[in-house]
Amino acid sequence: MRLSQMLFVTLRDDPADAEIPSHKLLLRAGYIRRIGSGIYAYLPLMWRVLQKVSQIVREEMNATGAQECLLPQLQPADLWKESGRWDTYTKAEGIMFSLIDRREQQLGLGPTHEEVITAIARDMIRSYRQLPLHLYQIQTKFRDEIRPRFGLMRGREFIMKDGYSFHADEASLKETYQDMYKAYSNMLRRSGLAFRAVEADSGAIGGSGSTEFMVLAEAGEDEVLFTEDGKYAANVEKAVSLPANAEPSRFTTYEKRDTPKSETIEKVCQFLNCSPTQVVKNVLYQTVYDNGMTVLVLVSIRGDQEVNEVKLQNELTKLASNYAAKTIISLNVPNAEAQQTWTAKSLPLGYIAPDIPDEYITSDKQIHPQFVRLVDQTVVDLKNFVTGANETGYHVVGANWSEQFKVQSTLVDIRKARPGDRAIHNPEQTLQSARGIEAGHIFQLGTKYSQAMGANYTNEQGEEKPLFMGCFGVGVSRLAQAAVEQSYDKDGIIWAVAIAPYHAIVTIPNINDAQQVATAEKLYAELNQAGIETLLDDRDERAGVKFKDADLIGIPYRIVTGRAIANGKVEVVERATRKSQEIVIDEVTTTLKQWITSAIEE
Ligand code: ATP
Ligand code: MG
Repeated sequence: MRLSQMLFVTLRDDPADAEIPSHKLLLRAGYIRRIGSGIYAYLPLMWRVLQKVSQIVREEMNATGAQECLLPQLQPADLWKESGRWDTYTKAEGIMFSLIDRREQQLGLGPTHEEVITAIARDMIRSYRQLPLHLYQIQTKFRDEIRPRFGLMRGREFIMKDGYSFHADEASLKETYQDMYKAYSNMLRRSGLAFRAVEADSGAIGGSGSTEFMVLAEAGEDEVLFTEDGKYAANVEKAVSLPANAEPSRFTTYEKRDTPKSETIEKVCQFLNCSPTQVVKNVLYQTVYDNGMTVLVLVSIRGDQEVNEVKLQNELTKLASNYAAKTIISLNVPNAEAQQTWTAKSLPLGYIAPDIPDEYITSDKQIHPQFVRLVDQTVVDLKNFVTGANETGYHVVGANWSEQFKVQSTLVDIRKARPGDRAIHNPEQTLQSARGIEAGHIFQLGTKYSQAMGANYTNEQGEEKPLFMGCFGVGVSRLAQAAVEQSYDKDGIIWAVAIAPYHAIVTIPNINDAQQVATAEKLYAELNQAGIETLLDDRDERAGVKFKDADLIGIPYRIVTGRAIANGKVEVVERATRKSQEIVIDEVTTTLKQWITSAIEE
């Protein structure tokens, strides 16, 4: 392609609305253009990158025996009502764009395709002989994200590869899951990315596990905790660890103490001269279930620890059926205004004990009359601890479970693991932290959708059984931008050869020099002929401008038909290392062919 004929517009300055380097660079280098909030045009250079990434994804998927298809983006609401997700996706999470057609039918724009694929499986899979089966697609997804940002990282319209597998049993599902683990690792490795596969939260779906593939970068929205020995890595949402040991308490007798103005852990510890590891902290949460029921939750956790709200939400989702509900709509620490909606009298905030009486809750059909009391592992073994006295300005010290307080509550792990904690598999290893961009997520769904939608098959014994399912997603457009986030310098993008829009760019320093032009034209034709994807910068611009642009768009190899042609040579510069060498004109194509082949891993 000739730059003189391309829509080629680069910006000198960083665009004002871009925050992270990859977003700035893709805008500046003319790869993408913002059309609206979370909506981007993929310009020709970007589209080539996306096609390269898609092709790598496709090859890795096909190698596992999965088959490509294309499912509709427009999805009837009825399917989502069958799975029970219509209301959560359109109202609660509000992630799905929905619309009403001219026949007054409700439709949604696909944020994901479990419903569509399960409907197909229900109709077409009859027998165990058809299993296992894995279908995938590469397609634009729509999600009305609360905070679209960082360009293609979190768009409202983005490209995803999503695959869905069907199995007779869990063992077969696990086999495909393992294959996908390898396929995803290959995709990221071949795209030139440094990444970490981490244990992930499977949310309310449950199932027996999921793995996220995190591209390591400072700008990542996720925190990953891992051990140096490589044996443990998890998203902080899911991570488990051993907390530091509690210090022994110095309060040997149970007493109520006057602790004025000590409504935080820090203040009470200062006042009583004790360690936060001796304090039972009681945190109040308010949750609303999908049937409108408000439930108040009291979490007791050690004073030096924090609540992991993802773990908490999972625990509360498990309790949904106790309130005739299916799922949670919201979960938060209620502020003063929210408290007014359910308190019968004012709470001793900052001084709450694990046994705060239920009579603080006002009587209302839509409010559950008792606190749900959850006790984290960290407080169960505490002896002679400090906690609130249920009275403003007072704490109790030297308290013990089964003496002053009953563990009448449900025992759970809702603690947030953090860097520095000891690892469970080996307490000599401590957790370290890194930032990651979630590029892919693989999931063992189990029978959730097949049961909800009646997707069964007949097994060898002739019995009807629900299909086991897996689902596997990779964000093609997010991955492409993540590659930039991991590889750039002050002058621009540095693409890995495997996903660069072009392999090489032939730059003519002076287009009024006939010899320079002739050499460049010859090389341009020859390189393309040899399958080396090449740009020709034949614009009437100063050489300096052309070099800057070539660096900015990040083409791996630049060939300059400058002074060296007097000696039958051209200058070849490698973008990543800036290594420059003169190569005999006739040897350029074979040399580059070699470099490119060895740079692109299969
Ligand atoms: P996130 O936690 O980042 O919102 P998710 O858990 O919603 O991601 P999945 O539903 O598992 O993501 O989708 C599969 C993949 O699609 C993700 O791993 C990610 O790479 C990509 N993806 C998800 N949401 C977006 C988005 N808004 N913009 C771009 N890519 C996305
Ligand atoms: Mg999301």
